[in-house]
Formats: sequence, C-alpha cells, structure tokens
Amino acid sequence: MGRRGISRRRFLATGSLAAAALAGDGLWPRSTWGANGSPNAPLEQFGYGDVWISSERHEAQLMNTHSVLMGLSDDSLLKPFRQMSGMPAPGDDLGGWYAYDPDYDYKKNFDYGFASGCTFGQWVSALARDYAITGDEATRDKVLRLNQLYAQTISGQLYEKSRFPAYMYDKLLLGLLDAHTYCHDPQAMAILQKTTDTAMPHLPGHAVEHNVRWRRDPDKQDASWTWDESYTMPENLFIAYRRGAGRRYYDLALQYLDDKTWFDPLARNENVLAGRHAYSYVNSLSSAAMAYLVAGSQKHLEAARNGFAMVQAQSFATGGWGPDEQLRAPGSNDVYNSLANTHASFETPCGSYAHFKITRYLLRVSRDARLGDSMERMMLNTVLGAKPLETNGQAFYYSDYNYDAHRVYHVSYWPCCSGTLPQVAADYRINTYLRGPQSVYVVLYVPSTLRWTEGGAALTLTQQGEYPCEPQVAFTITASQPTETTLHFRIPEWAEGAEIGVNGKRQPGLAVPGQFAALHRTWRSGDRVDLEFPLRTRLEPIDAQHPETVALLRGPLVLMAVKPRQESPLPQVTRAQLLAARRISERAWQVDSASGPVTMLPFPWIGDRSYSAYLRVT
Ligand SMILES: [Zn+2]
Repeated sequence: MGRRGISRRRFLATGSLAAAALAGDGLWPRSTWGANGSPNAPLEQFGYGDVWISSERHEAQLMNTHSVLMGLSDDSLLKPFRQMSGMPAPGDDLGGWYAYDPDYDYKKNFDYGFASGCTFGQWVSALARDYAITGDEATRDKVLRLNQLYAQTISGQLYEKSRFPAYMYDKLLLGLLDAHTYCHDPQAMAILQKTTDTAMPHLPGHAVEHNVRWRRDPDKQDASWTWDESYTMPENLFIAYRRGAGRRYYDLALQYLDDKTWFDPLARNENVLAGRHAYSYVNSLSSAAMAYLVAGSQKHLEAARNGFAMVQAQSFATGGWGPDEQLRAPGSNDVYNSLANTHASFETPCGSYAHFKITRYLLRVSRDARLGDSMERMMLNTVLGAKPLETNGQAFYYSDYNYDAHRVYHVSYWPCCSGTLPQVAADYRINTYLRGPQSVYVVLYVPSTLRWTEGGAALTLTQQGEYPCEPQVAFTITASQPTETTLHFRIPEWAEGAEIGVNGKRQPGLAVPGQFAALHRTWRSGDRVDLEFPLRTRLEPIDAQHPETVALLRGPLVLMAVKPRQESPLPQVTRAQLLAARRISERAWQVDSASGPVTMLPFPWIGDRSYSAYLRVT
C-alpha cells in the first residue's frame, strides 16, 4: 500500500499511553467518565449544553452568528450545490466566495465564486452546536432541512467543479457528524456515507501539499486549483470513526496524514514551517493530535506538540500568527517586518478556531495549564474583538498589527472566516471547562455556569467577576449532596503571587504559576473559591532581534496604543512609561509619553480607532 500502508497494528502497538488514549476520546456530546476512566487518560470535553455563559461579549458573538445563519434562505445556501450539479437553482445568490461562477478566474476577480459552497458544512456544524446550546427547535429543523436538500445535490460534479474538493468534503463531513451527534438527525449518517462514496474518487487519495498540482485536467492548471487542503482531513475522519461512521473513516484518516514532508520532520523537531500556508497547516496539527487521541500514534503527538511550539515561537503577543497567511522561518525578521509591511497580520476566525482545537487537544493529553494561557491570550486579544458577521456576508478576517492599524471587514463577502466564526462562538463552552476522572478543570475564566454529575450528585460551578480587567474571579458551588471531587484552576504563568481561597480561608502555596491548582475536598452547596491574579504590566518584544519593539500586556490582555488621528506619528515612550500605564476607566488605560498622553485599549474595545499593537521604546 506504499505510504498509505501504515498499519493499524503499528499505531496501536505504542504501549499504555495508546491504550489510555483509546479508553475515552471525549468527542461525545456528554461526558462518559466512569469506573473505566484511567487517571492518566486524556481529559474529556463537556457537552455544549453543560455550560451556560453569562459574559455579554461571548454571548453577543453566539447570538450574532446564530441569527445570521438562521436568516439565510435554504435556496440561497443550496444554490452553488444545485448549480454545480446542473439542477434548477432558484433563490438569491449569496455572492462572494460562496457563489458559483463557471467562468471564475482568480486573476480577474478573486472574490466572486472563489470557494463555492465551501462554508456550508461549517454553518451546518455551527447550527447543530447552537441547537445543543439553545435547544431551539427551529435551529434543529433548519439543520435537518439543509441536510435533506443538500443530499439531493450530491454528485461528482460538486468535486470536479470545486477548487477545494477536499476542503468542501472536510467541512461537509463535520457538519453531518455534528447534525448526527447534536441534532440526532436520523438521515445524517446515510447522507454522510453517500457524500464519502461520491467525494473519494475525486480527491487525491493522499495528502497533497499546498501549491502542488495533482489534477490531470488541462483546464485545472492555474494556481488556484492547487490551494486545496487535503492535509487537514484526518481530524474529522478520525472523529467520524469515533462517532460510529465506520472503519473506513479510520483508514481514510491514516491515508491522508501528511507524514513525509510535514509530520515526520515535526516529530523529529525539525522546523519545516517556513513558507507554509498558516491557517491550514496549523489546522492540520489537530489531525496529528487526533491520530494520537484516536489511533494512539505517539509520533503524531510529538509532531503536534513540536509544531505547536514552533508556531508559538513566531507568534505575536496577542497569540496570533502567520502574517500574510504564511508561517515563517525561525529566527527570521519576517514577523517584525510585517508590522510595517502588511495589514493582513493574523487570519483571525479561522486561525483562532484552529488554535483553540489544537490547544484543547494537547491540554487534554498533557494537562499543561500553559496551553490554557495560550487559549486565553488568543480569545481575549483576537477573536473576541472580531467585528460581527453581517447578513450580507461582510466578515471579519484579518487582525491588523501594523503600526497604522484598523479593525475592518474583509474586502470579500462570505470568506472562509464566515464559516469558522460561528463555530468559534459555539465552542467557548467546550473550551472553558474540561473533565477528568472525579475532577473538573477550569481552563478559561469566563463568567459562566457548568452543570455536571459526579457519583450520582448533581453539581454546578458558577464563576463571576470582571476579570481580566479586575484581578478576582469568584466561584460558587452547588451540590445535590456533599460530594468528594477535585476542582483544578488554571494559574496563568504570568500570575506570580496569585492567591486562592476556599470559603474565605487562604490556601498558601497552592497557586503555582503555569500549573493547575488542585482543590480536593468534599464540596457542599454554598462553598466558595476565590482566585486573585495580580495584573501587573509587562512588555513582550516582537522577537529576540528587536527588543525595542514591544507590546504592553496587563495579565492576559494586550493594551494597544490608540492614535489620535490616522496620520498621527507613534508616541515616543520609554519602557518605564509603558509599564506605568494607569487605568483611567473600566476598560481603558493611559500612558504618559514625551509626546503627550496615550490611550491604551484592549483589542475588543478598540472600535474604529487607529491603533498600533506594538511600540518602539527608547
Ligand atoms: Zn479564514
């Protein structure tokens, strides 16, 4: 079988960790920890309906994306599929990337018809997750209806006419799986099988790198036919296998792992990031993580860990990465140079979606609290500040870290990022808490309530507070009966001097920065845990070669310098002046500089002002 012939036995013969990985994969809507849960097994995810979020900012993003998707007509959503399959296609054209244009030429008009129907599966996935959150029957009805209508359009033409056949299949696969799992769509599995039967003959049969030609058709020789992302498919194929779609999904997942030029060198800790398309290759690290979680492959776990560490090493202070959608050579000046030469600093909804998945998977395996720090940084400084999705398809795409930056919509309508933002908005729930055997891990500090059961008792854990603007997070517990369990709280690596208290009593020595603090006790209703994180200011340079170009952070928040006018020069500031930033209102800080006072704001509150994420200090 050549390079596809990695035997299943070899995957499984990797010892006890592999067996532990197979014991519970946590992809189910409800946690299934029980008597069989090994203490070293990966943490599991809670269900979407287990967490209730009370943060206005997070919920606004969920409501916005949910209502935009609910407002799109079925005919418009099906239009490109019907057109590609030669069927009557009534209804309005959504336009933008979503449209189908048989005469598409990226050199003449990049936007219209670039990725026909590609976000459909992500929207079905997001709606299914939204149903799991809200229980709104109209949402479930729409998911089932869209799947039925889509099923009528399934044909090889969908894949022949698409520049992104693997991308489209990958997203359709997850949409159908989520419809099956969260909406109990009785048809979803059958439609999934038909989709796979139809798609496979039109896909390359193995992972094909970005920019590599694989299609024989002479009409498909321009560069735009080489940008598909088949190397991201194993993640969802493994999930399909785990959710009962059948053994062939496991085999297909192995077949599409991008080993030779990507995971093998990453597993050996060789940095092969330079020049690769940022979002899709970071996204593919989740395929490697899933090869461990589902197939027990230690090599792929190493590849995912090493690859993620290499991405972190070239990240902005916000947690974003990949200026101009490219990963960079280690030690190069590229990321520093991007501050002056591009506004396309970080592909935010897609990139954060990929980032949340890989950090969540790796945290489940390693229980390394610093992966939670990374999720928090990404959440607060990038995607939580995304502009809302508009009903006409205007979408937030790039975060801008240029010295002359603006927070703007993308020029294209219905781009890839309009597919991932609704998924990100739903997933704050599953990112915030994780579950271990007789234990809960609090990964993110977001005002919310978790409901779960432990040994027959029903428990809730509620967190409140104005963190990250204020240092305190307060937790209250309810339990239907006194229950012995362990609650783990992430202590951020920057939080030197953090305090933890239980029912008003300090717990000295328990809060270690960069680790989870474990509180094991018999919990009773009314018990209270108080966390306090000293929110000191600090500076982070863009890279080691440019220590004078810094971002100002306070706890997990990057404070960005607002420019009075677009044409205003950057302020002249010293390190000491930046570090002395003082709070002037709930969410605004001020720095005194030689050129006058400078307002510093976190990204979600930047609004339409000109700003700079980085400043040069003297
Ligand atoms: Zn995108």
